[in-house]
Amino acid sequence: MMVLMQADATKEQVSEVMETIERHKLRPLNLPGDEHIAVGVASAIPPEVRDPLTACLSALPGVDHVVQISRPYKLASREFWQHDTVVNVKGIEIGGAKCVVMGGPCSVESREQIFASAQAVKDAGVSILRGGAYKPRTSPYAFQGLGLEGLKLLKEVGDAMEMVTISEVMSPEDVDLVASHVDILQIGARNMQNYSLLVAVGKAGRPTLLKRGPAASIDEFLLAAEYLLHHGTSDVILCERGVHPLDRTYTRNTMDINAVPVLKHLSHLPVIVDPSHGTGVARYVTPLAKAAIAAGADGLIVEVHPDPKRALSDGAQSLTPAQFQCLVNEVGRVAQAIGRSI
Ligand code: PEP
Ligand code: MN
Repeated sequence: MMVLMQADATKEQVSEVMETIERHKLRPLNLPGDEHIAVGVASAIPPEVRDPLTACLSALPGVDHVVQISRPYKLASREFWQHDTVVNVKGIEIGGAKCVVMGGPCSVESREQIFASAQAVKDAGVSILRGGAYKPRTSPYAFQGLGLEGLKLLKEVGDAMEMVTISEVMSPEDVDLVASHVDILQIGARNMQNYSLLVAVGKAGRPTLLKRGPAASIDEFLLAAEYLLHHGTSDVILCERGVHPLDRTYTRNTMDINAVPVLKHLSHLPVIVDPSHGTGVARYVTPLAKAAIAAGADGLIVEVHPDPKRALSDGAQSLTPAQFQCLVNEVGRVAQAIGRSI
């Protein structure tokens, strides 16, 4: 349930709505918006309370109207918030009119490699740099990332080249450390349902990119986003990165392009697509990047490496700087065709 206040509602009127919700043993959420203040009910409403509470709240001074929310997720739902959420990171808007591209290597490997990657990304006109310092690898013998050293390098390159940075956080203990080195926290596909991590990242209140688990339903994905929103982060970016495939012969995952319009319909949060993990094969990354933008995605996250053959992780799906430049050009034309730009 959401109570939408009139544009000129006073603080006292908002407090009265909140107290009324509390008197019904429910938890209110105050959500200041651009035009109207909304008060949500965070807890599940017992069926016998719903009608009397709706009548009671509708009659209060300053209340415009009361909306019932039918989805299991509330804060993430478009029923709750009809406008598109725009996440602003250092002046870059994610979820606005422009589509946003993020690029960089799967892992930060060395100073030379991350500076060369950043230069390639910047030369393509892209100002958000990705790079994993903590890597969730299927094998314990595979390169696990540089950890703190990788974070320091990302911070150094981000500051030196005035780029926004994004990196994955894998455990609740590392949230503060990662948050103090990068601009956007990434929750990886394998951790989409790691609830203690979602709580810790939510509490950090920082812009967060949440990847969809490879076998997660849309509702499970949006409920994971709900954890972040519920615990204090309003800047959540959803990322579709491919789901378990029927056939692994030619691609690593299957891009669920359906998810893009479905998520945009169900949620107000920005939706971006990762065609690198979605396909696992460099030659298919650009076609799927174009498909994602055509389907309404707000942006892309793409793996780029100065020398993919020597990459310590995900080389097969990483683009060379020249291929990345082509992707940006081609995606730009698709964006223009649908009335957007990059
Ligand atoms: C990554 O971005 O490098 C990564 C590990 O992605 P995912 O969590 O989607 O597998
Ligand atoms: Mn990767």
